[in-house]
Amino acid sequence: MENIERRDIKSLTMAQLKEEMEALGEKPFRAGQLYEWMHVKLAERYEEMTNIPHKLLDRCRERYTYTAFKMIRIQESKLDGTRKYLFMLPDGNTVESVWMRYRHGNSVCISSQVGCRMGCRFCASTLDGLERNLLPSEMLEQIYAITRHTGERVSNVVVMGTGEPLDNFDNLLQFITLLTDENGLHISQRNVTVSTCGIVPRMYQLADRQLQITLALSLHAATDEKRQSLMPVANRYCLHELMEACACYFEKTGRRITFEYSLVKGVNDTTGDAQQLIRLIKGLNCHVNLIPVNPIKERDYIQSERRAVEAFKACLEKNGINATIRREMGRDIDGACGQLRRRHIKETHLCRS
Ligand code: SAH
Repeated sequence: MENIERRDIKSLTMAQLKEEMEALGEKPFRAGQLYEWMHVKLAERYEEMTNIPHKLLDRCRERYTYTAFKMIRIQESKLDGTRKYLFMLPDGNTVESVWMRYRHGNSVCISSQVGCRMGCRFCASTLDGLERNLLPSEMLEQIYAITRHTGERVSNVVVMGTGEPLDNFDNLLQFITLLTDENGLHISQRNVTVSTCGIVPRMYQLADRQLQITLALSLHAATDEKRQSLMPVANRYCLHELMEACACYFEKTGRRITFEYSLVKGVNDTTGDAQQLIRLIKGLNCHVNLIPVNPIKERDYIQSERRAVEAFKACLEKNGINATIRREMGRDIDGACGQLRRRHIKETHLCRS
């Protein structure tokens, strides 16, 4: 028998699904029904799709894989109700996602890869390198599984969990198409943020798509030398190139850039550092998000003192730059990227040995 690679049905757009149904000799409206079960009713399995004939469901089982996760751990913060979910993927890999409740709605922070190959010095997600890219359906499923579990609508999605989204570019774009599709969850593009460490050619490619999503750039330093010491990607693209790419993103999309700046004591948190940052980004339509670094035990980076963080912010604001200090959500539950997954891998590893 011919070995046909099975397509992942939850990663297909409505148009692609219609083509598939046509190729199977099915009526096009079946695509609409399947799509609704997957992306609106958030079905976990084919068995739930009660208005679709068994014969068609059997053909789907044969031809397509159906992405569903096993929820293996949930941690809830006693401080602010933030929840961290650990999911097991069909191939046994694990990913983590975070659910946060804000006044303006529920927000989910998702992972875009299993592991990461960017090597940022302060980040726990990259310590073991990249395992693989996540499929569009595997990015969606993080949101769907959390929606099923909480019973509450998600209104904001940030791609700021484990992985570098622009290193998984095509799957990321397909994910955004599905997430914002009016036939699916229909989350507004304006409520989607993609965070990147700054892969310049991909930033231009993204700008060309003219989406209304927010691009967050992980800056963390205002000189090339300092940035290189924190982020290996800075050896490939200098700040000058990066700023040009940011300006282009704004020109093409009209969307203000968010700069993320993690404050590390004694590394990048003085008012001198703030002055350099001002010189770098002045004139750009942007917003700065200050994040006191979340220390990981594998590295000896220390969080800046509150006073230094406030002074840094005041300095930016005095120069007309909009800045906020990121509220630290879920500090008591391995809040920093990749920490929960790492802990799980370590613990299960210990169990086996
Ligand atoms: N790869 C993407 C998205 C994932 S990281 C990126 O680099 O933007 C999401 C954000 O968390 C980035 O700004 C990243 O630099 C930051 N981050 C990672 N580990 C951190 C830590 N321990 N403390 C504070 N911020 C951290």
